[in-house]
Amino acid sequence: TKPLTIFEFAKEIQKPTTEIIKYYFAQGMMLNQNTTLNEDQMGELALHFGFDFKKENVLTKENIFEQLQEVDKPEDLITRPPVVTIMGHVDHGKTTLLDSMRDSNVVSGEAGGITQAIGAYQVTSKSGKKITFIDTPGHEAFTEMRSRGANVTDIVILIVAADDGVMPQTEEAIDHAKHANVPIIVFVNKMDKPDANPERVKTELMQHGILAEEFGGDVPFIYGSAKQKQGLDDLQETILFIAELRDYKANPNKFASGIVLEAHLDKSKGPVASVLIQQGTLNIRDVVIAGPTYGTIKDMENENGRKLKTAVPSQPVVIIGLNEVPNAGDKFLVMNDATVARSIAEAQYEKHLAMERSNKQSFTLDSIKTHI
Ligand code: GDP
Ligand code: MG
Repeated sequence: TKPLTIFEFAKEIQKPTTEIIKYYFAQGMMLNQNTTLNEDQMGELALHFGFDFKKENVLTKENIFEQLQEVDKPEDLITRPPVVTIMGHVDHGKTTLLDSMRDSNVVSGEAGGITQAIGAYQVTSKSGKKITFIDTPGHEAFTEMRSRGANVTDIVILIVAADDGVMPQTEEAIDHAKHANVPIIVFVNKMDKPDANPERVKTELMQHGILAEEFGGDVPFIYGSAKQKQGLDDLQETILFIAELRDYKANPNKFASGIVLEAHLDKSKGPVASVLIQQGTLNIRDVVIAGPTYGTIKDMENENGRKLKTAVPSQPVVIIGLNEVPNAGDKFLVMNDATVARSIAEAQYEKHLAMERSNKQSFTLDSIKTHI
């Protein structure tokens, strides 16, 4: 038998598709009319609507994150802060730039919460608009997230030290940004150094296809010093200018979903995860699935350790309450039904194990080949 989409199924039982979408929405699932239903779901829906129906499995617990689609009405979408990642060669000043921007922004008396390093934070620019910065643990983690379909970043800041120029990890960063298909802003750092040579940086980047606006390209170049806090306002205004052009939006009026940025086990608090909200609003007490883990949000804090009751799109938050430690790059989703959440998390865990097993197998085969 042929699998049915919500649209097709609705036609079969002569109900509006919105009735079915609403039914799932009430359970924390954002489906659209093109989502394929599995046999269980069709059975469940048939029961709910008083019909008898039997079809084949398609949407399963194993593939739920891939299958879930969101239906947003244009009027539900509101502007959200841009999410920005800083990339560049080691020692070119990523950490200093992040720290400088954060220092000039931390509200006093907010420090000291669940964790200090959350892996992301928001700043409020001079013009009063927010920007979310993500501190990627490294290019590898970024690639890993991308390969799993997790688009975390809207804009990449490519930082290049003016006294060093384009280096191997600069090239990697360019590759990542190009593959992610996101706009790049170049921050030419360490302009305070006597041997700073911004012309060289510009020329070398041009050879890598990064064309400055003054050369007729479309990549903004900002010159400054992360250490001396020079060029930071300029950088933020450029980010906000791009954000305005691109018009980043999200729907806050639904159950939250997003991505795990970092997670670890705390001796007294258990699994602690920092997550980036990408859609919807996250509330304390929500039941969430995060990759192969699940739980009820017991405690939620911002990057400065301030307790929160809710979090909105583009906001990074630290959550407590998951049963295990998820992985960076795992997707999370509110599913306000503990039993369903648990069974989906378990299915995700099985899928994860199966993937690990097949990775190990191919690794073993390869190593046999190379060792004979
Ligand atoms: P990362 O590896 O890219 O995170 O680089 P860091 O932020 O750790 O910076 C590496 C070194 O460069 C540190 O000693 C910083 O103090 C220094 N540094 C960063 N930005 C500047 C700058 O604008 N001017 C100068 N003179 N030094 C800087
Ligand atoms: Mg660093």
